[in-house]
Amino acid sequence: MDGTFNENDLSRIVEADRAHIWHHLIQHKPFETNDPRIIVEGKGMRVWDQKGKEHLDAVSGGVWTVNVGYGRESICKAVYDQLMKLCYFAQSAGSIPGAIFAEKLIEKMPGMSRVYYTNSGSEANEKAFKMVRQIAHKRYGGKKTKILYRDRDYHGSTLAAMSAGGQDERNAQYGPFAPDFVRVPHCMEYRKHELDGAPEENFGEWAADQIEAVILREGPDTVGALCLEPVTAGGGVIEAPEGYWQRVQEICKKYDILLHIDEVVCGVGRTGTWFGYQQYGIKPDFVTMAKGVASGYAAIACMVTTEEVFNMFKDNADDPLNYFRDISTFGGCTAGPAAAIENMRIIEDENLLANCAAMGDRMMGNLQALMEKHKVIGDVRGKGLFLGAELVADRATKEPVDEKLAQAVVADCMAQGVIIGVTNRSVPGKNNTLCFSPALIATADDIDQITDAVDGALGRVFG
Ligand code: PLP
Repeated sequence: MDGTFNENDLSRIVEADRAHIWHHLIQHKPFETNDPRIIVEGKGMRVWDQKGKEHLDAVSGGVWTVNVGYGRESICKAVYDQLMKLCYFAQSAGSIPGAIFAEKLIEKMPGMSRVYYTNSGSEANEKAFKMVRQIAHKRYGGKKTKILYRDRDYHGSTLAAMSAGGQDERNAQYGPFAPDFVRVPHCMEYRKHELDGAPEENFGEWAADQIEAVILREGPDTVGALCLEPVTAGGGVIEAPEGYWQRVQEICKKYDILLHIDEVVCGVGRTGTWFGYQQYGIKPDFVTMAKGVASGYAAIACMVTTEEVFNMFKDNADDPLNYFRDISTFGGCTAGPAAAIENMRIIEDENLLANCAAMGDRMMGNLQALMEKHKVIGDVRGKGLFLGAELVADRATKEPVDEKLAQAVVADCMAQGVIIGVTNRSVPGKNNTLCFSPALIATADDIDQITDAVDGALGRVFG
């Protein structure tokens, strides 16, 4: 190809993509015969691809991100104005949008106090992991370095974040991982039969007690933190059962273990409250967030912690090691907080938390109705506009359907102009959970269009 480029010549763009782009999380062999998909434009809930085909986006940019929808002029303007004023300065200095957004964010998070800016969810989690390690050295003589994470949870793509990764498909072939990350069992009611000794009643308390058993096995004086997703996303859209969170909090208190809640997906409205953890009455020590913070209009992630944790790094200024020796270059880019301030204003002014809860209820009702109709749906679950439908070959054994069939449902919906997702990532080749995360602006008609498409697709794929 020659070097001349016209961005409106979309067949030329497709060829450049095919020749040079390494897409994320996808096999490339099919691109030898099929075109890669290029998303050209978005407005509200809808996007258009290179062929001009319109799609209703039921996954907010593919991965739970564009919470306020596409084409928000006011966010673009806020970013433009800020970049013209000051695009960047290292976050060892402050910035106007950085300070404003931090104050607004903390107002939504009673008990929390300090915001550390970074660029991605993985990095935000790593910041918390590093703090836990540093606290272990400063306070506990190098003990309490262990970080517990849960089977089926995911905390990012970098190697330390993957060391806390509970999804075997993602982790396979990338080891060895960092030491002192220890897995605890999942708390998934629908698949509790996979856990030895799981009871019929009070499964939530029992699942939390399995965490305590791991702490006792490892030695409480070696465990610094427990890192959990409030609602597990990529591991299959899993809400913890009744009784779980209260026990988790008690266990953390009992053994002096910091509680790190990974809100990279749930944060900033996705479940119908500002943060997922706020639905369960818990008080975390670290909260990390990324995707919905600026709805994808700029790259921003935050690691938020308490004044108590902050103070451990503040005192004793004579000690040259006594500060958080970490930087994220683009944590100083002002576009992120400028977009985040406007994103938050939109959520408040348009009452999008309430809309998320109401539309989430409607979608859950629709999915439950589909479950009555299609026996391939074994379970529907989730919170707010963060929902999943697990497909099983047999409701009695709960054997997952072959992933190719789940992918066929996704492809059928795509042909109908509705983009949905499929996930699980725990068992290689068994991604069997359809996932839905429309923008928080979704209307009843949008929700019905999504579930009607799924209805048609299930009928065609499974008969
Ligand atoms: N934590 C959770 C729960 C996630 O779902 C993800 C990404 O999907 C991450 C962390 C990593 O975020 P990022 O891809 O921005 O590094």
